[in-house]
Amino acid sequence: MESLVQPLSVYRNLGLVAQSKWEFFLDNVTSDPYHLWIVANVIILFVFFFGYGGLFVLMDVTNKPNFMRKYKVQPGTNEPLSLEKFGKAMKVILFNHFVIGYPMTHGLYLFMKDVDVRELPAFHTIVLQFIGCIILQEIVFYYSHRMLHHKRIYKYIHKKHHEWTAPVSWTAVYCHPIEHVVANMGAVYIGIFLMKLHVVTTWIWLIVTIIKTINDHSGYNLPFCSTVDFHDYHHEIFIKNFGVTGLLDKFHGTHAVKAAKKTTRNSARKTK
Ligand SMILES: [Zn+2]
Ligand SMILES: [Zn+2]
Repeated sequence: MESLVQPLSVYRNLGLVAQSKWEFFLDNVTSDPYHLWIVANVIILFVFFFGYGGLFVLMDVTNKPNFMRKYKVQPGTNEPLSLEKFGKAMKVILFNHFVIGYPMTHGLYLFMKDVDVRELPAFHTIVLQFIGCIILQEIVFYYSHRMLHHKRIYKYIHKKHHEWTAPVSWTAVYCHPIEHVVANMGAVYIGIFLMKLHVVTTWIWLIVTIIKTINDHSGYNLPFCSTVDFHDYHHEIFIKNFGVTGLLDKFHGTHAVKAAKKTTRNSARKTK
């Protein structure tokens, strides 16, 4: 029994430390809901989407450093990236972020601004709500994405996102505005809205989802992000891997793994 008491008191103490730091932030930096929900959201967008994602863009534009070439999911694509093609895509990307995304974030703020932010949620609450967000995102993204692939509507909306058969990090949001509202932002915001997430949980969720979508579209399969192949392969073959986690793809039989090992085996056979 005693062995349980100690970890529990450490857990409680860590919670108290986090709570006091958070209260210090609210009292000395800002507790204005506009700053917490909108300004912070914009900062997260610039740091993680444009900043972190920009590193991949830089590697694509310069085709450097050389040691990164071995991580390319589709070697030979965007090596180097066509600035003309990417410049056109940037207009759509910026439009989606600022003309579509910003009002949606403002809408979220109007729903969330009265949620009490002073008390931090317990760590286990954050974990459970995080799982809830992942499940809701998977449901909304998988079914809306599959619907967007329906032959009657594909060419009107989703075809745009698939112009990049070998995606580049920022092309994660190169898509029709309707797709951006439903499949991208809708799928991410639904959990925040339905579970009335604390603003700190919201920040963590937004950072994780931005990093994931940037990785998934980066075109680089780095050792620490094992899921890149999954969505990149969707861009390559169109008819498989519609979800985010792969769970609903496994359930519906639309899950596919790129035959990387087969290629290695073939090339090993050739070298024999
Ligand atoms: Zn994509
Ligand atoms: Zn698709």
